[in-house]
Amino acid sequence: MSHTVEILCVGTELLLGNIVNSNAQALSRELSGLGLNVLYHSVVGDNPGRLKAAVDQARKRADVIVTTGGLGPTCDDLTKQTLAECFGKKLVFHPECAQAIEAYFKRMGREMTENNLSQAYLPEDCSILDNAWGTAPGCAFQSGGAYVVMLPGPPRECLPMFKERAAPWLARLSEGVIRSRTLRVFGSTESGVEAIFRDRMNQLTNPTLAPYAKEGEVELRITAKADTAQAADALIAPVEAEVRSVLGDLVYGADVSGLEQVVLELARARGLTLGTAESCTGGLIAKRLTDIPGSACVFKGGVVSYHCEVKAGVLGVDQALLDEKGAVCAEVAEEMALGAKKALGCDLAVAVTGVAGPDPDERGNPVGLVYTALAAPDGTWVKKLDLAAPGARRDRIRTLAANHALDMARRWLEKG
Ligand code: ATP
Ligand code: MG
Repeated sequence: MSHTVEILCVGTELLLGNIVNSNAQALSRELSGLGLNVLYHSVVGDNPGRLKAAVDQARKRADVIVTTGGLGPTCDDLTKQTLAECFGKKLVFHPECAQAIEAYFKRMGREMTENNLSQAYLPEDCSILDNAWGTAPGCAFQSGGAYVVMLPGPPRECLPMFKERAAPWLARLSEGVIRSRTLRVFGSTESGVEAIFRDRMNQLTNPTLAPYAKEGEVELRITAKADTAQAADALIAPVEAEVRSVLGDLVYGADVSGLEQVVLELARARGLTLGTAESCTGGLIAKRLTDIPGSACVFKGGVVSYHCEVKAGVLGVDQALLDEKGAVCAEVAEEMALGAKKALGCDLAVAVTGVAGPDPDERGNPVGLVYTALAAPDGTWVKKLDLAAPGARRDRIRTLAANHALDMARRWLEKG
């Protein structure tokens, strides 16, 4: 029988909307990776009565309960006491925990207060999950058919504690591993992809195939469960091949962070450099490229040529052309890309000019009209786009425009 998990996060801050429940997301991913089925996330405030009720509920619908938060030394930290009570356990003093806490304070050069030692009280007969990243130790115990793991709230303690301490403790429960591979698709909508694969998605059980809409693109996730990572990967491979053969070059990568990563990798592999000339995207493409560590060996730089003065003065776009047609036209996009290529001394340059909205430009060009261009050693290309999908606001039009420009570079680089 496979084990079922409920993640129970404790903290009034979560309920007030002051912080995002990132622990639940991070732990879900880790637990799935261990082959455990996470069925529920729940959140409860720093209140012993409601926490007890939440634990009672969790016990009924899952056999593994993982809590985060409320392990600290202050009076609102009551997770240990409450869970011990729920499972009929006493809290007992662990001198080795007290020593570890004292040592931590010494290391940090901070004064330890008496109530820090309250953290050395843990439920009887538990495994201590030593906290090398903070003070509050976590703990894990089994009681009847239930498995309980308690982790501290701060994410920079919670996640390493899970990986280094709780995962080995839970490993004995897991049957197999879950692996997934995410194919990234640009140039189709989620419903388009869903329509193509609907029957296959319904047929497939292991691996499963599921589409997710992302900012202006689609992810197709293939997820398999098997005894070993290799066996899971072997289940994934033929489905990946099938998807790739159907979608062709709409699939731009697998397990990558985005188009920018693929563009950088392809350019690096070919020893080519990149540059950008951006108008309505205001530097977004350059930002996305430089978000990736090590981009410097490929990306030379970019010009944010927002005013026509800069398009003409810095990029060398023909002033007569700007006067006649305005900034938003195919010819200007092309000249921007060529100008950036020359000014920046790079092999490939992409350019964007368009109307991000919310209002049409002074020449009456509609919101969402965007031209992207690519200048390469063997020619230049321009694409005219209508990005004014219903509900497409300024930031979305800019994201889509950047995607299209990057995709032009990706396609050129893939041609080999
Ligand atoms: P501490 O010893 O720091 O008090 P704790 O285990 O008692 O740790 P909490 O007091 O519940 O944890 O939370 C401490 C901080 O950790 C919160 O202020 C918040 O910033 C962060 N935190 C708590 N729970 C979560 C969560 N579920 N997701 C993300 N961050 C969280
Ligand atoms: Mg606390």
